[in-house]
Amino acid sequence: MAGMLYLVPTPIGNLGDISIRCRETLEQADFIAAEDTRVSLKLLNHLGIKKSLVSYYEHNKAFKGDKIVERILAGETCALVSDAGSPAISDPGEDLVKQCAAAGITVCAIPGPCAAITALSISGQATGRFCFEGFLSTAKKSRREHLESLKKEQRTMIFYEAPHKLLSTLEDLTEAFGPDRPISLCRELTKLHEEVVRTTLGQAVEKYAENPPKGEFVLVVAGAPAEEKETASEADAAARVAQLMAEGLSRKDAVKQTAKELDLPKNVVYDAALKDAE
Ligand code: SAM
Repeated sequence: MAGMLYLVPTPIGNLGDISIRCRETLEQADFIAAEDTRVSLKLLNHLGIKKSLVSYYEHNKAFKGDKIVERILAGETCALVSDAGSPAISDPGEDLVKQCAAAGITVCAIPGPCAAITALSISGQATGRFCFEGFLSTAKKSRREHLESLKKEQRTMIFYEAPHKLLSTLEDLTEAFGPDRPISLCRELTKLHEEVVRTTLGQAVEKYAENPPKGEFVLVVAGAPAEEKETASEADAAARVAQLMAEGLSRKDAVKQTAKELDLPKNVVYDAALKDAE
């Protein structure tokens, strides 16, 4: 019988955030695939768990993925962990999940720490609709295209960023969305120096130009304000009715068609047309 792949989220700062279920899964797995075995070994030592570790990271994932799938198909259970947070979310794992799913292996994701969701919850921004944008590319062209595609995005946007790139990212976000756009900078979440700065993009650029940022950040940026739907005026309605009547339509049909075209109630169009004809 084939084994299983478990995605095991690990703390993003506070070791107390490891859940009972994550702990049990790590204990019971036949082996653990880790982004950085040294980082995961520290966590396992803290939990008092001794387990065989294999590395699975960006630059060996093509080759290691096949080996892991082979072992699972032979009946072993693998727990996948990343350095911190939820595996497969801006972390190695996405491809392993795809590979396992394609091989008919059951994948089980255990819920747990994720910097994006922790930041969104604490941000004070609208949470009803949001999109996760991960890291912006360092390549200028794709970075520009990515930001361009988000100019009209109305959902709250979540970005990850490394501290040494934070200022230039804030500058690029300001250029794309304007200096007045609200942003929550969520820093060192669940750690001793956790901080949330709720401000605007323009003010954030000023702040971090003066004080270089330290620690890990999630940026939660408000979406674009909804575009106001232009409502057609009564004058537009009257003009369109007159035009349609001149083309041969009866007043009744002209009103009906105009109301449909301009998305206005029929009685409003009718009154406007009558007033115009007086
Ligand atoms: N898979 C992880 C997760 O689910 O949270 C994210 C991994 S990604 C490689 C690392 C990025 O997550 C960091 O650059 C930062 O943007 C964010 N991050 C991770 N831990 C954080 C923390 N404690 N506080 C703020 N941001 C954090």
